Amino acid sequence: MTNPFLLTDSFRHKGLRKQLVEMLQKKGISDKNVLQAIEKIPRHYFFDSSFLEYAYEDKPFPIGAGQTISQPYTVAFQSMLLDVSKGTRVLEIGTGSGYQASVLAEMGAKVFTIERHKILYTKTSKLLPALGYHSIKTFFGDGYKGLPAYAPFDRILITAAAPSIPEELITQLKPGGIMVIPLGPDDIQTMTLLIKKANGGYQKSEHGAFRFVPMLKDKEK
Ligand code: SAH
Repeated sequence: MTNPFLLTDSFRHKGLRKQLVEMLQKKGISDKNVLQAIEKIPRHYFFDSSFLEYAYEDKPFPIGAGQTISQPYTVAFQSMLLDVSKGTRVLEIGTGSGYQASVLAEMGAKVFTIERHKILYTKTSKLLPALGYHSIKTFFGDGYKGLPAYAPFDRILITAAAPSIPEELITQLKPGGIMVIPLGPDDIQTMTLLIKKANGGYQKSEHGAFRFVPMLKDKEK
């Protein structure tokens, strides 16, 4: 990985990452592709400054604009549910730091990601290609609207708390496609997996409680 922001990936960072991966395995993450991606990607590159002691803890962390980089377990869990393989077209809502998008790209997905915060969008849309993730397409916009020009998608991943299922996004999902979405009010959400049926409806399953920052409407300059 190139090093555009004068960041280094030391043996210490690599060692901490290995420990993080072992912890994720103990917590039940079994998907080899997910674990390999997390072991490979220097998560500290996605932090404002390299807070070494925080980057490889299993915790969320502030990334500016009142937003957070999701906890590694949450990234791993959502990536596992999403079940991507080489060439899978994924729409992510909530680019944030770009870490989740990079994990999916390492797993072989073709990632399209939308961020509503201009500052975060600007920063991450420069960082990702600089780290070598040229295939990740970043967009500034309102995720509730999705990306009709690039639809349909095989997978849609929401990385913010959605009060209800955004119906417009269901229309941008292929039949048989999967949406992973934390559904619920601001304080707690249920990780929900939807499989779109051929008739346009969906089949729903629930996968435990999580906490995300809210999915908000419209763009923020
Ligand atoms: N996937 C991110 C996690 C970011 S936290 C990462 O790996 O770092 C959730 C992000 O969703 C925030 O950056 C927030 O600004 C963004 N967000 C919230 N509502 C949104 C919307 N309607 N459209 C696009 N992005 C949104």
